[in-house]
Amino acid sequence: MDGSLAPATEASCHGGRDRLVEAARAAGKSATLDKLMADYPRGPHDQPQSMCPAFGSLRVGLRMKRVATILSGSACCVYGLTFTSHFYGARRTVGYVPFNSESLVKGQLFEDIRNAVYETAKPADYDAVVVINLCVPTASGVPLDLLPKQIDGVRIIGIDVPGFGVPTHAEAKDVLTGAMLKYARNEAETGPVARPRHLEDRPTVAVIGELFPADPPGIGALLAPMGMAVAPSLPCREWRDLYAALDCEVAAAVHPFYTASVREFRAAGRPVIGSGPIGVDGTADWLAAVGNAAGMTGAKIDAAKAAALPAIRAALDANPIRARITLSGYEGSELLVARLLMEAGAEIPYVGTACPRTEWSEADRAWLEHRGTHVQYRASLEQDIAAMMDVRPDLAVGTTPLVQKAKELGIPALYFTNMVSARPLFGAAGAGSLAAIVAAQTRGAPRFARMVSFFEGVGSQTTAGYGFKGKPVEPQGARERTRKARLAKAKSLEAVGT
Ligand code: SF4
Repeated sequence: MDGSLAPATEASCHGGRDRLVEAARAAGKSATLDKLMADYPRGPHDQPQSMCPAFGSLRVGLRMKRVATILSGSACCVYGLTFTSHFYGARRTVGYVPFNSESLVKGQLFEDIRNAVYETAKPADYDAVVVINLCVPTASGVPLDLLPKQIDGVRIIGIDVPGFGVPTHAEAKDVLTGAMLKYARNEAETGPVARPRHLEDRPTVAVIGELFPADPPGIGALLAPMGMAVAPSLPCREWRDLYAALDCEVAAAVHPFYTASVREFRAAGRPVIGSGPIGVDGTADWLAAVGNAAGMTGAKIDAAKAAALPAIRAALDANPIRARITLSGYEGSELLVARLLMEAGAEIPYVGTACPRTEWSEADRAWLEHRGTHVQYRASLEQDIAAMMDVRPDLAVGTTPLVQKAKELGIPALYFTNMVSARPLFGAAGAGSLAAIVAAQTRGAPRFARMVSFFEGVGSQTTAGYGFKGKPVEPQGARERTRKARLAKAKSLEAVGT
């Protein structure tokens, strides 16, 4: 950072993306931005429509043992991220290096970050220290790549996770996971590394994606007839898990947006397969893909299928779903969940995911589209809502604002993250897990209708809330005065520039 650039301190995720991108490029972050945009291509959903994307990286760091995570960003962003972390039960300290315009412009912020890293990197406490540049430090070119790579054996990992370069918090998980895998791969290629805590003697499958805790053992049971086991799944819980994951026979991109992580597995010479062991069709195809990638015989693959598929079929038959559902979310597992619901009997005309289209969800997209489902990648909230209003489903599964809209319309609705994060998805356990919650929600349809009639006339938008009957009156001339003040400020800044 040369200190000559005016930091974009007033821009945020609520506007000014182009300005931030321009500032970041001018500040020497072009290579970083190009990589982010290649890994996480944009679609109609260019701006965060949910929580700050950096939460994904922060969460990955906070969930690891002996890893410290430090944020560098505006205080308001850090407040929101810290609040969300603790809301989700982080129970860990979130480090923060504050700044002001002066320390940002003069390059002092980088010095402050480096000092914080030196203070934190104690081998008795940590295996790694992660520093995350949020929007403003990224746009101002704070050069985390100039941090030392390690201090007394503690690895230092600096990443840029700006909202204007990483569209969703799901993909931000990949930014940190990929950076850690790269570091661990380089370590393993240059010398001996710490022995993983649970070292498998069978060939393993490294599952990529944040899963419900019961899912990895369930996947292990599916693999056992082929003589295979699961490696620690990614994002992982401690540094040495990274070595065990990289040591796998096959990597499985169950969540299909981990582009940087997949790159590291490929660099380590591991084949990578897509989709997941979901329902009968998905499990059969996935076991075949794993077996083929691992060089298993047809007999072993058939044995694995024979052990798994009848139980999954039986669980689906015992828990039929009779409902028309629209499904959308930003977790990346939307297509898999839709497949499972459809195999159980649901009709799903629309699936929207905030994540991009990648080769690892191609099989799921083809399966769904073959059965008449419209799959929308990089779906915006507006598209999800339009689909729900068009379909008028028995149940709308989606993000918080979609669920809110559905409730206003009297449509039973369910928050996607709550539905999938508290139950298994894969194998026979997954096949039986979703039916009950769908049935409970669709049974509540008359209650939603009563709710709509109860609140009838309370008001909406500018008249929402008790006691508000009309549109609030604007103070006379306020908008015009603000517009003129903005114009005057812009002109005075131009004058300074010339
Ligand atoms: S860091 Fe997150 S909250 Fe802050 S401006 Fe960027 S996207 Fe928004």
